[in-house]
Amino acid sequence: MPAIDILSVTKLSPFLEPQLHAAFKLHDRLYETDPAAFAKLAPQIRGIAASGESKVPASLIAQLPALEIISVFGVGYDGVDVAAAKARNVMVTHTPQVLNDDVADLAIGLMLSAARQLPAADRYVKDGKWTSGPMPLARKVSGARIGIVGIGRIGQAIAQRALAFNMTVAYTARSKRAELPYAFYPTPAELAANCDYLVLITPGGAGTNKLINAEVLKALGPEGILVNVARGSVVDQEALIHALQNGVIAGAGLDVFENEPNVPEALRAIPHVVLAPHIGSATRQTRQAMADLAFNNLKSHFDGKPVHTPVPECG
Ligand code: NAP
Repeated sequence: MPAIDILSVTKLSPFLEPQLHAAFKLHDRLYETDPAAFAKLAPQIRGIAASGESKVPASLIAQLPALEIISVFGVGYDGVDVAAAKARNVMVTHTPQVLNDDVADLAIGLMLSAARQLPAADRYVKDGKWTSGPMPLARKVSGARIGIVGIGRIGQAIAQRALAFNMTVAYTARSKRAELPYAFYPTPAELAANCDYLVLITPGGAGTNKLINAEVLKALGPEGILVNVARGSVVDQEALIHALQNGVIAGAGLDVFENEPNVPEALRAIPHVVLAPHIGSATRQTRQAMADLAFNNLKSHFDGKPVHTPVPECG
């Protein structure tokens, strides 16, 4: 049987790349590195290996007449034009569930770090400032109110952890989940007005673009802390910088940004924000599990079996 040509559109995880190399003929971002070779090869490409941050636009799909499947290494797939894929009967898969724990752990870590000012505390000791007096007092987390924007797989894992901190959990989403024992607010602004920590964990894309705007930040208020482990696009970043600079909110813990990996100097200069370079799922254990799932989706498809985790639109 001839080798199956797979195009990668991202720098592949070291856990995924060897698996793909062993099973398929892998072409790494060929359209960037060698457009002439890509033009020749395009009619043979049957699969795409992408990451959660990859762009797979309709224009790329249109250049690949033999494309059958796009396997995303990540749960978010807002960079993939799923409508264009579906119109061509191209399957799209992602890696849900296996990263819930890591992303929820990081959300709690960022909340604690921003509230208790852990990076500042670390610098305080290392810079020798402790000898001249104690640090300013921080903000209590246990027993406070957490508001979760998006109560899906990861949102519920965050809620579960928050309960161990005796926090009161509330949420917003487009639809109320009757089975969940948490208070529901129909809008992010109403949720923000009724919590101390607002944690974002929705998908990115057009439906959530700048969902968290100046009005929501104002509702969160001068004691409130924002945590974003969703996508940078979910927050109006300019409004957030303004809110942090002017005491509209107390602080933030951010794993994701509007134009990654570029983080505006204005945001980096604010002392009471804690920043992370999109590491929600970045542990060896979880990246291995994601790689296995992304690989098995491709393998099953080309073995003529059902894929394991199609995106809901293709399920
Ligand atoms: P999920 O199970 O599909 O949950 C998504 C939640 O968001 C649902 O509760 C959904 O409820 C809600 N939602 C969707 N659109 C909304 C809108 N316009 N307004 C308010 N709520 C909305 O997804 P998941 O597995 O928990 O993952 C969530 C997201 O986390 C991913 O899509 C990705 O963007 C992000 N993520 C980030 C990292 C990281 O490294 N930081 C890692 C993994 C995932 P309704 O449908 O009822 O609105």
